[in-house]
Amino acid sequence: ASKAEGQNRLHVFEPGLLLVRRLRSQLLDDLRIAVKGEGLVLHYQPVIELDTGRIEGVEALVRWQHPTRGLIMPDEFIPLAEDAGLISELGLWVLTTAVHQLRRWIDDALVDSTFSVRINISATDLQSLQFIEDVRGVLKETGVRPEQVVLELTEVAIVRGNELDRYSLGGLRGLGVGIEIDDFGTGYSSISYLRRLPVDRVKVDRSLIEGLGTDPSQPALVAAVLQLVRACGLEAVWEGVETAEQAEHLRNLGCLSAQGYYFSKPVPPEQVPGLLAKASAESNSS
Ligand code: C2E
Ligand code: MG
Ligand code: MG
Ligand code: MG
Repeated sequence: ASKAEGQNRLHVFEPGLLLVRRLRSQLLDDLRIAVKGEGLVLHYQPVIELDTGRIEGVEALVRWQHPTRGLIMPDEFIPLAEDAGLISELGLWVLTTAVHQLRRWIDDALVDSTFSVRINISATDLQSLQFIEDVRGVLKETGVRPEQVVLELTEVAIVRGNELDRYSLGGLRGLGVGIEIDDFGTGYSSISYLRRLPVDRVKVDRSLIEGLGTDPSQPALVAAVLQLVRACGLEAVWEGVETAEQAEHLRNLGCLSAQGYYFSKPVPPEQVPGLLAKASAESNSS
């Protein structure tokens, strides 16, 4: 009986696996087309100056507008793009699109020269000397000030990195763009390299502020992280702020910048002018 069952199970299973494989290969074909720029979109999430409520910049977050499956989030297709060798192409599209978008906002006088756009870059981008040339190229093409472009790299990408990466980081820094460590506090013990690396800021992972407002020991932890970051000569941005209490705690602890659903979800570019107008009206009236 157990043998029959086994055979049965095999029978049930195989079409499933095949289906998964076929779906994946179909999805890959679609992704190959999408990274040409056809199916990708960038949404933008504001970074808020806690003191004033001013929007100091936005983070560009890629989404895939799939013809039949709807909007697919990056955690689902970035790994696929990595595996399929499409990540460089995707990275170049994101870089070009985000910086050109910033150029349009500047031209429309919606933002000033302190406003920055943050762009997530993959470990693959960091390892590629071509990427440095691409950044140089898009800055030249658009005439955007390099300080208005901030590249976000995860700790993992940096710490795993070799000498070449460090060289690339220096090369990017040499262009004058900002460098920020993303998801800070989730990777390796990060204290020793924080001082050595040519970075400007860290973006603290949202897991570090989750307990703010509920866990009484959390404010002390946040204060300690802030102190550590500043002792390394850096500044911190706090990500994943979802409640008024969290924002209030961060402000009281002396944190400068934050980002999260409490302020705004990532929005399509056409909604950014509205967010800017609203924030500016609110910060002037307070
Ligand atoms: P990330 O760079 O750490 O981005 C923050 C993620 O948290 C975003 O998810 C954002 O929508 C989400 N988020 C923002 N505020 C809140 C909040 O208050 N609560 C919660 N729970 N989540 C919040 P998203 O857009 O799905 O992106 C996920 C990750 O995908 C990003 O993490 C980044 O690592 C990667 N990614 C996104 N866009 C790109 C890109 O253009 N290139 C590359 N290489 N990676 C990207
Ligand atoms: Mg990021
Ligand atoms: Mg992050
Ligand atoms: Mg992340």
